[in-house]
Amino acid sequence: MARKYLVEAYGCQMNIHDGERLAGLLESAGYEPTIDPGDADVIVVNTCSVRERAEERLFTRLGEFRDAARAAGNTPVIAVTGCVAQQEGEALLKRSRLIDIVVGTQRVKQLPMLVNRAIDEQPGPQVDINPHEDVSFPLGLARRGDPVKAYVNIIEGCNEFCTFCVVPYTRGHERMRPVAEILAEVREAAEAGHREIQLLGQIVNHYQAPDDAACDFAVLLERVHGVAGVDRIRFASPHPRHVTGRLLDAYRSLPKVARHLHLPVQSGSTRILAAMRRRYSRERYLDLIAEARATVPGIALSTDMIVGFPGESTADFDDTLSLTAQARFHSMYSFKYSPRPRTLAIKRLPDDVDEPEKTRRIVALQALQREIQSDLHRQSVGRVERILIDATSRRRLEELSGRTSGNTVVNLPGDPSWLGRFADVRITAAGPNSVRGEVVELEA
Ligand code: SF4
Repeated sequence: MARKYLVEAYGCQMNIHDGERLAGLLESAGYEPTIDPGDADVIVVNTCSVRERAEERLFTRLGEFRDAARAAGNTPVIAVTGCVAQQEGEALLKRSRLIDIVVGTQRVKQLPMLVNRAIDEQPGPQVDINPHEDVSFPLGLARRGDPVKAYVNIIEGCNEFCTFCVVPYTRGHERMRPVAEILAEVREAAEAGHREIQLLGQIVNHYQAPDDAACDFAVLLERVHGVAGVDRIRFASPHPRHVTGRLLDAYRSLPKVARHLHLPVQSGSTRILAAMRRRYSRERYLDLIAEARATVPGIALSTDMIVGFPGESTADFDDTLSLTAQARFHSMYSFKYSPRPRTLAIKRLPDDVDEPEKTRRIVALQALQREIQSDLHRQSVGRVERILIDATSRRRLEELSGRTSGNTVVNLPGDPSWLGRFADVRITAAGPNSVRGEVVELEA
């Protein structure tokens, strides 16, 4: 009987996609998927360390897995992968006796071998986090969890070293994937029925093909656009420093590229942006989004914001509020600053905004953003929008959801067989996080 695996992944889209690749690696080694810890021979937790308390959450989850497995009389091998594994290495074994394997972000290809060894030979805890041995693109064949969208990595790692960010330390230096490989994976995903391709990279718009000098990110979009079966293209996340006129022009000339730009700003204060080492000013960012809106009318913008960064005064925070009000983002991920291990900020900048003040700021920012989103959504009521239906509801039969080109979530009644089809829907009601619609015309 085939051995079974369970992979759980947290964090950003890249981490979720790494989970799909870990699943793919285990399947190519003969393992089959299960969602039951009581039935799994191996449980893999792909961790994210971008936010605080990642380790506490990991240990809690491992305890839950152990209890569920024990209740079924099972003792699966437990492997921890991802950024927490890379960052903490052997230290994780000292904190939890439940862990059998720790694998770093650049060593994932070793996972099936380590799991087989753990099951067959029971050698005791195994750790493989060496970031220097294998700096090639750590690919596995992805087992895609989503029937409509397919993530495709184009860049690994990052060289920006923003002072708050742990990614350059956990994922290593920036490596570009050959365009031939990217297109082969896009073709394979499209042939398998994935109509939406999401290109992923820490700074996705910094792409330059190592195997084709003429292929930068704008050209890559053009080539992905030309693949039969691809009907919508998204990408995450670009860096404002690398947004070019050519990229904005690509939106205009390539209709399958969704009219949405997620452009992390992180703060509205030029002083704090300098301390974060973002290398653009508030004014430059505002100019950039004005240019994006002028070049691509109707483009929806979203962003990431951090409050309570070291040294952030109330005046700096007011700059964040005023930039938010001015930019009118369609959505925002906002976070309270927390020092991350090994970063420049933890070494050099005291975490001097106290917790109650960080909370006050995040509450104020989120209230403002909620107001803006509600207003933008209200304005869309009565309009007809084209959506790609990409999810069914787990709780209610005949309840679907899809996304507009601008990435707004539209919930609608419909038949589960409509999954993966485009539909023109009339927006009938608006909430802060999504809108409701009804189908006017369904793609044949
Ligand atoms: S650009 Fe900055 S925030 Fe983004 S991954 Fe690189 S270091 Fe982190």
